[in-house]
Amino acid sequence: MQVMDTTLTQQLIDREEQFNAHNYHPIPVVLDRGEGPYVWDVEGKRYYDFLSGYSAVNQGHCHPKIIQALVQQSSKLTLTSRAFHSSLLGEYAEYITGFFGYDKVLPMNTGVEAVETALKLARKWGYERKGIPEGSAKIIVCEGNFHGRTLNVISFSTDPSSRNGFGPFMSGYITIPYNNTTALKEALNDPTVCGFLMEPIQGEAGVVVPDEGVLSTCYQLCKEAGVLFIADEIQTGLARTGKMLACDHEGVKPDILVLGKALSGGVLPISAVLCNDDIMLCIKPGEHGSTYGGNPLACAVAIAALQVLKDENLAERSEELGLYFRQKLAHLNSKYIRTIRGKGLLNAIIIQHKNPEAAWDLCLELMRNGLLAKPTHGDKIRLAPPLVISKEELDDCIQIIENSLSVLDNL
Ligand code: PLP
Repeated sequence: MQVMDTTLTQQLIDREEQFNAHNYHPIPVVLDRGEGPYVWDVEGKRYYDFLSGYSAVNQGHCHPKIIQALVQQSSKLTLTSRAFHSSLLGEYAEYITGFFGYDKVLPMNTGVEAVETALKLARKWGYERKGIPEGSAKIIVCEGNFHGRTLNVISFSTDPSSRNGFGPFMSGYITIPYNNTTALKEALNDPTVCGFLMEPIQGEAGVVVPDEGVLSTCYQLCKEAGVLFIADEIQTGLARTGKMLACDHEGVKPDILVLGKALSGGVLPISAVLCNDDIMLCIKPGEHGSTYGGNPLACAVAIAALQVLKDENLAERSEELGLYFRQKLAHLNSKYIRTIRGKGLLNAIIIQHKNPEAAWDLCLELMRNGLLAKPTHGDKIRLAPPLVISKEELDDCIQIIENSLSVLDNL
């Protein structure tokens, strides 16, 4: 057995603990390098990355074409602010709107900023186009949602760890159960509702996949009620679930599409809101913005990141490998896996064990065996490798998972 000197790892963890806020509980590995589906720790050990930066690294770590775009543009011009035009914003805007079929894009940075932007757009549209009395617009959201960490967005979270101790909260939200079209229909009776925000698959909640037909029914109900269907595809979009967008599984084109994460392939925080002119033009100069939103570096990187998704057929790859992966997981027939669910390469297993720490301990064993994943909400483990992973590598990962599950025998 290989004996490793882990003092460097421990020193680096200790330093981080001492000087950095304790707002995460990471798996005890210190990463130093990444390439494709792999990352290496500071001791030189290689791992499969089964979190992919919460699905930001769909294109694989340090994709050469994305890095090339980053390097080239970074020595030319990185930031103009939106006080001036840049030579790349128009090119990027034309590219991404053409890519997804919308009139316009509003570029932001982090995912939650794009969610905030979409909510502001929906409210503004509600007042200007739908005639909702000023100050009374409502947005329908789903239980178990995760849309980020700002005060407004956690105001409609149903997760106590996201909310507790952070009030007072923003009003104007109606919460319905996820995957429940009857509840949506009922909530849509309120004439002051301007939007319905949903994740086409709830990622953070543990890859909760709605029943077939639910997305399209939700969209249809919104159409009938004159309400905007807003899809947060920050985690599900950009080929992760086996289609370019998770909404594509049901032929739904959201009124407002929210993207982030893999829009940069894990290189920079880049997010975007896409919609047509009747919605987007409700926001006028001075009413919304961001210093870094749409900066030239981000434009160059996002074009490259989108191009890679297309050139490498990553949606088709994700669909095919996802089916294969779930099948192989099922064949393990493990008594410790209660549920296997997901679409494309956005998957999760639910662990069944008397010990509530079992999912965490399994992740530690996976780490020891060369695969990185992290539990979400106790017993769920998301399994979402970069989409560039090969079938042979996936086979290797299944073997690692099978070997690691035996650690649960002794818990
Ligand atoms: N929306 C969804 C569906 C997400 O999964 C996330 C992050 O995990 C966010 C929004 C927030 O994105 P960010 O962390 O970039 O603000």
